[in-house]
Amino acid sequence: MAALKKNKVILVIIDGLKYQTAIEQCGFLEALVESKKARRMKMIAVLPTLSAPIYETLHTGVQPIHHGITSNDNLRKSNCDNIFSIAKTGGLVTAAAAHSFFSTLYNEDPYIPIRDQEVNDPDKPIQHGRFYSEKGYSSYNISLPSEHDLMNQGSMLVDRYKPNYLMIHSCSCDSIGHQYGGNSVEYSKQAWQVNDQLAQNIPFWMDQGYRVLVTSDHGFTESGNHGGSSEVERWTPYYDIGHPNPGIGSEEVSQLSVAPSILSILGLSIPKKMNAPLIDK
Ligand SMILES: [Zn+2]
Repeated sequence: MAALKKNKVILVIIDGLKYQTAIEQCGFLEALVESKKARRMKMIAVLPTLSAPIYETLHTGVQPIHHGITSNDNLRKSNCDNIFSIAKTGGLVTAAAAHSFFSTLYNEDPYIPIRDQEVNDPDKPIQHGRFYSEKGYSSYNISLPSEHDLMNQGSMLVDRYKPNYLMIHSCSCDSIGHQYGGNSVEYSKQAWQVNDQLAQNIPFWMDQGYRVLVTSDHGFTESGNHGGSSEVERWTPYYDIGHPNPGIGSEEVSQLSVAPSILSILGLSIPKKMNAPLIDK
Protein backbone atom coordinates (compact mmCIF):
# COMPACT_ATOMS: atom_id res chain seq x y z
CA MET A 1 0.00 0.00 0.00
CA ALA A 2 1.06 3.56 -0.68
CA ALA A 3 2.26 5.64 2.25
CA LEU A 4 -0.47 7.60 3.98
CA LYS A 5 -0.37 11.22 2.99
CA LYS A 6 -1.27 13.97 5.41
CA ASN A 7 -3.83 15.96 3.47
CA LYS A 8 -6.74 13.64 2.75
CA VAL A 9 -9.29 12.42 5.28
CA ILE A 10 -12.35 10.19 5.15
CA LEU A 11 -14.63 10.36 8.21
CA VAL A 12 -17.12 7.50 8.51
CA ILE A 13 -19.95 8.07 11.00
CA ILE A 14 -21.81 4.85 11.84
CA ASP A 15 -24.99 6.24 13.34
CA GLY A 16 -25.92 4.65 16.68
CA LEU A 17 -23.00 2.20 16.97
CA LYS A 18 -22.07 1.73 20.62
CA TYR A 19 -18.51 1.14 21.77
CA GLN A 20 -18.83 -2.45 22.99
CA THR A 21 -20.70 -3.60 19.87
CA ALA A 22 -17.97 -2.13 17.66
CA ILE A 23 -15.28 -4.11 19.49
CA GLU A 24 -17.30 -7.33 19.37
CA GLN A 25 -18.65 -7.13 15.80
CA CYS A 26 -16.26 -4.99 13.75
CA GLY A 27 -13.56 -7.57 13.14
CA PHE A 28 -11.99 -5.79 10.17
CA LEU A 29 -11.53 -2.57 12.11
CA GLU A 30 -10.12 -4.54 15.04
CA ALA A 31 -7.74 -6.34 12.63
CA LEU A 32 -6.35 -2.95 11.59
CA VAL A 33 -5.76 -2.17 15.28
CA GLU A 34 -4.17 -5.55 15.96
CA SER A 35 -1.86 -5.23 12.95
CA LYS A 36 -0.78 -1.73 14.04
CA LYS A 37 -2.37 0.12 11.14
CA ALA A 38 -4.94 1.89 13.33
CA ARG A 39 -5.47 3.24 16.83
CA ARG A 40 -8.74 2.52 18.61
CA MET A 41 -9.89 4.85 21.37
CA LYS A 42 -12.99 5.20 23.50
CA MET A 43 -14.73 8.42 22.54
CA ILE A 44 -17.14 10.16 24.89
CA ALA A 45 -20.20 11.64 23.21
CA VAL A 46 -21.40 15.13 24.05
CA LEU A 47 -24.93 15.67 25.39
CA PRO A 48 -27.65 15.24 24.41
CA THR A 49 -26.74 11.94 22.69
CA LEU A 50 -28.84 12.72 19.63
CA SER A 51 -27.84 12.67 15.97
CA ALA A 52 -28.25 16.22 14.64
CA PRO A 53 -26.63 17.89 17.68
CA ILE A 54 -23.67 15.52 17.41
CA TYR A 55 -23.26 15.77 13.62
CA GLU A 56 -22.81 19.50 14.21
CA THR A 57 -20.43 18.96 17.15
CA LEU A 58 -18.28 16.52 15.15
CA HIS A 59 -17.92 19.17 12.42
CA THR A 60 -17.55 22.30 14.58
CA GLY A 61 -15.81 21.13 17.76
CA VAL A 62 -18.45 22.97 19.80
CA GLN A 63 -20.91 21.64 22.41
CA PRO A 64 -24.60 21.44 21.33
CA ILE A 65 -25.53 23.86 24.07
CA HIS A 66 -23.23 26.38 22.37
CA HIS A 67 -23.85 25.70 18.65
CA GLY A 68 -27.59 25.71 19.32
CA ILE A 69 -28.76 22.53 17.56
CA THR A 70 -30.02 20.80 20.68
CA SER A 71 -32.58 18.41 19.16
CA ASN A 72 -33.24 16.54 15.92
CA ASP A 73 -36.33 18.73 15.68
CA ASN A 74 -34.62 22.12 15.67
CA LEU A 75 -32.34 21.31 12.77
CA ARG A 76 -31.26 24.32 10.72
CA LYS A 77 -28.26 25.49 8.73
CA SER A 78 -25.05 25.63 10.77
CA ASN A 79 -23.93 29.12 11.79
CA CYS A 80 -20.50 27.98 13.04
CA ASP A 81 -17.16 27.50 11.34
CA ASN A 82 -17.13 23.83 10.33
CA ILE A 83 -14.89 21.36 8.53
CA PHE A 84 -16.75 21.66 5.23
CA SER A 85 -16.82 25.47 5.12
CA ILE A 86 -13.21 25.84 6.25
CA ALA A 87 -11.97 23.23 3.77
CA LYS A 88 -13.89 24.83 0.89
CA THR A 89 -12.60 28.30 1.78
CA GLY A 90 -9.10 26.82 1.99
CA GLY A 91 -9.33 25.61 -1.60
CA LEU A 92 -9.80 21.92 -0.80
CA VAL A 93 -12.33 19.55 -2.36
CA THR A 94 -15.17 18.29 -0.14
CA ALA A 95 -17.67 15.46 -0.56
CA ALA A 96 -20.28 13.51 1.39
CA ALA A 97 -22.53 10.49 1.07
CA ALA A 98 -24.95 11.02 3.91
CA HIS A 99 -28.40 11.56 5.38
CA SER A 100 -30.20 14.69 4.20
CA PHE A 101 -29.65 16.26 7.64
CA PHE A 102 -26.10 17.01 6.45
CA SER A 103 -27.41 18.83 3.38
CA THR A 104 -29.59 20.96 5.67
CA LEU A 105 -26.71 21.65 8.07
CA TYR A 106 -24.09 22.64 5.51
CA ASN A 107 -25.61 23.19 2.04
CA GLU A 108 -29.28 24.17 1.79
CA ASP A 109 -32.04 24.64 4.37
CA PRO A 110 -34.66 23.29 3.78
CA TYR A 111 -33.64 20.08 2.02
CA ILE A 112 -35.41 19.98 -1.35
CA PRO A 113 -34.64 16.63 -3.01
CA ILE A 114 -35.03 17.74 -6.63
CA ARG A 115 -32.42 20.43 -5.98
CA ASP A 116 -30.25 18.98 -3.23
CA GLN A 117 -30.19 15.17 -3.42
CA GLU A 118 -27.24 15.10 -5.82
CA VAL A 119 -24.93 18.11 -5.88
CA ASN A 120 -21.75 19.01 -7.76
CA ASP A 121 -21.13 22.67 -6.98
CA PRO A 122 -17.71 24.15 -6.11
CA ASP A 123 -19.40 27.06 -4.29
CA LYS A 124 -21.16 24.87 -1.72
CA PRO A 125 -19.50 23.72 1.54
CA ILE A 126 -20.26 20.10 0.54
CA GLN A 127 -19.19 20.34 -3.08
CA HIS A 128 -19.96 16.77 -4.13
CA GLY A 129 -22.98 15.61 -2.13
CA ARG A 130 -25.09 12.47 -2.38
CA PHE A 131 -27.93 12.51 0.13
CA TYR A 132 -30.69 10.10 1.21
CA SER A 133 -33.67 10.36 3.55
CA GLU A 134 -35.51 7.94 5.85
CA LYS A 135 -38.84 8.69 4.22
CA GLY A 136 -40.96 6.43 2.06
CA TYR A 137 -40.42 3.02 3.64
CA SER A 138 -43.20 0.73 4.81
CA SER A 139 -41.53 0.12 8.16
CA TYR A 140 -38.63 1.60 10.09
CA ASN A 141 -36.47 -1.50 10.36
CA ILE A 142 -34.90 -1.16 6.94
CA SER A 143 -31.27 -0.48 6.19
CA LEU A 144 -31.15 3.02 4.69
CA PRO A 145 -29.64 2.84 2.15
CA SER A 146 -27.93 -0.52 1.52
CA GLU A 147 -24.55 -0.41 3.27
CA HIS A 148 -23.06 -1.96 0.13
CA ASP A 149 -24.38 0.85 -2.05
CA LEU A 150 -23.43 3.55 0.47
CA MET A 151 -19.80 2.48 0.87
CA ASN A 152 -19.44 2.01 -2.88
CA GLN A 153 -20.86 5.50 -3.33
CA GLY A 154 -18.06 6.70 -1.06
CA SER A 155 -15.52 4.90 -3.23
CA MET A 156 -17.13 6.40 -6.34
CA LEU A 157 -16.72 9.90 -4.87
CA VAL A 158 -13.06 9.10 -4.11
CA ASP A 159 -12.42 7.80 -7.60
CA ARG A 160 -14.32 10.54 -9.43
CA TYR A 161 -13.55 13.70 -7.43
CA LYS A 162 -10.54 12.87 -5.23
CA PRO A 163 -11.90 14.92 -2.30
CA ASN A 164 -9.54 16.11 0.41
CA TYR A 165 -12.37 15.62 2.91
CA LEU A 166 -15.03 12.95 2.41
CA MET A 167 -17.67 12.19 5.03
CA ILE A 168 -19.69 8.99 4.81
CA HIS A 169 -22.66 8.59 7.13
CA SER A 170 -24.38 5.24 7.66
CA CYS A 171 -27.82 5.11 9.26
CA SER A 172 -28.71 1.43 9.48
CA CYS A 173 -27.45 0.57 12.99
CA ASP A 174 -29.55 3.42 14.36
CA SER A 175 -32.67 2.24 12.53
CA ILE A 176 -32.22 -1.37 13.67
CA GLY A 177 -31.34 -0.26 17.21
CA HIS A 178 -34.58 1.68 17.55
CA GLN A 179 -36.56 -1.29 16.29
CA TYR A 180 -34.90 -4.10 18.27
CA GLY A 181 -32.75 -2.50 20.98
CA GLY A 182 -29.03 -2.12 21.54
CA ASN A 183 -28.54 -5.63 22.93
CA SER A 184 -30.44 -7.42 20.16
CA VAL A 185 -29.11 -9.99 17.69
CA GLU A 186 -30.45 -7.82 14.88
CA TYR A 187 -28.43 -4.79 16.01
CA SER A 188 -25.23 -6.86 16.34
CA LYS A 189 -25.74 -8.34 12.88
CA GLN A 190 -26.15 -4.88 11.38
CA ALA A 191 -22.90 -3.69 12.98
CA TRP A 192 -21.29 -6.78 11.44
CA GLN A 193 -22.75 -5.81 8.06
CA VAL A 194 -21.39 -2.26 8.19
CA ASN A 195 -17.96 -3.59 9.15
CA ASP A 196 -18.06 -6.08 6.28
CA GLN A 197 -18.80 -3.34 3.76
CA LEU A 198 -16.02 -1.19 5.23
CA ALA A 199 -13.70 -4.18 4.85
CA GLN A 200 -14.37 -4.12 1.11
CA ASN A 201 -13.69 -0.39 0.70
CA ILE A 202 -11.18 0.81 3.32
CA PRO A 203 -8.20 -0.94 1.61
CA PHE A 204 -8.97 1.10 -1.54
CA TRP A 205 -9.24 4.32 0.47
CA MET A 206 -5.93 3.59 2.22
CA ASP A 207 -4.32 2.84 -1.12
CA GLN A 208 -5.50 6.23 -2.38
CA GLY A 209 -3.62 7.90 0.48
CA TYR A 210 -6.45 8.65 2.89
CA ARG A 211 -6.34 8.88 6.67
CA VAL A 212 -9.58 7.04 7.54
CA LEU A 213 -11.46 7.81 10.75
CA VAL A 214 -14.41 5.64 11.82
CA THR A 215 -16.67 6.62 14.69
CA SER A 216 -20.32 6.95 15.69
CA ASP A 217 -22.46 9.77 16.97
CA HIS A 218 -23.92 7.95 19.99
CA GLY A 219 -24.56 4.50 21.44
CA PHE A 220 -27.82 2.77 22.37
CA THR A 221 -29.81 1.58 25.35
CA GLU A 222 -31.10 -1.96 25.61
CA SER A 223 -34.64 -0.62 25.23
CA GLY A 224 -33.83 0.98 21.85
CA ASN A 225 -33.28 4.59 22.73
CA HIS A 226 -30.60 7.26 23.05
CA GLY A 227 -30.39 10.90 24.08
CA GLY A 228 -29.39 10.49 27.73
CA SER A 229 -26.14 10.30 29.63
CA SER A 230 -25.67 6.57 30.37
CA GLU A 231 -22.39 4.89 29.43
CA VAL A 232 -23.99 2.78 26.67
CA GLU A 233 -25.25 6.00 25.09
CA ARG A 234 -22.08 8.08 25.57
CA TRP A 235 -19.34 5.53 24.83
CA THR A 236 -18.57 5.43 21.12
CA PRO A 237 -15.71 3.88 19.13
CA TYR A 238 -13.03 5.96 17.43
CA TYR A 239 -10.79 4.15 14.95
CA ASP A 240 -7.97 6.23 13.47
CA ILE A 241 -6.42 4.40 10.52
CA GLY A 242 -3.05 6.03 9.95
CA HIS A 243 -2.61 7.37 13.50
CA PRO A 244 1.12 7.75 14.28
CA ASN A 245 0.76 5.63 17.44
CA PRO A 246 -1.33 2.57 16.48
CA GLY A 247 -2.82 -0.01 18.84
CA ILE A 248 -5.41 0.24 21.60
CA GLY A 249 -5.43 3.63 23.27
CA SER A 250 -6.14 3.68 27.00
CA GLU A 251 -7.19 7.32 26.96
CA GLU A 252 -10.74 8.57 26.58
CA VAL A 253 -11.17 11.26 23.94
CA SER A 254 -13.94 13.80 23.46
CA GLN A 255 -16.02 14.29 20.35
CA LEU A 256 -14.98 17.95 20.61
CA SER A 257 -11.50 16.86 19.42
CA VAL A 258 -12.66 15.45 16.08
CA ALA A 259 -13.08 18.70 14.11
CA PRO A 260 -9.76 20.32 15.07
CA SER A 261 -7.94 17.00 14.53
CA ILE A 262 -9.34 16.68 11.01
CA LEU A 263 -8.45 20.30 10.18
CA SER A 264 -4.92 19.64 11.46
CA ILE A 265 -4.54 16.57 9.22
CA LEU A 266 -5.87 18.59 6.27
CA GLY A 267 -3.27 21.27 6.96
CA LEU A 268 -5.87 23.96 7.67
CA SER A 269 -5.87 26.52 10.47
CA ILE A 270 -8.06 25.77 13.49
CA PRO A 271 -10.56 28.40 14.74
CA LYS A 272 -10.18 29.50 18.37
CA LYS A 273 -13.57 28.04 19.32
CA MET A 274 -12.24 24.56 18.49
CA ASN A 275 -10.04 24.40 21.58
CA ALA A 276 -10.13 20.67 22.44
CA PRO A 277 -6.80 18.79 22.26
CA LEU A 278 -5.81 17.13 18.96
CA ILE A 279 -6.20 13.37 18.86
CA ASP A 280 -2.92 12.65 17.08
CA LYS A 281 -0.74 14.63 19.49
ZN1 LIG B 1 -31.53 7.30 16.68
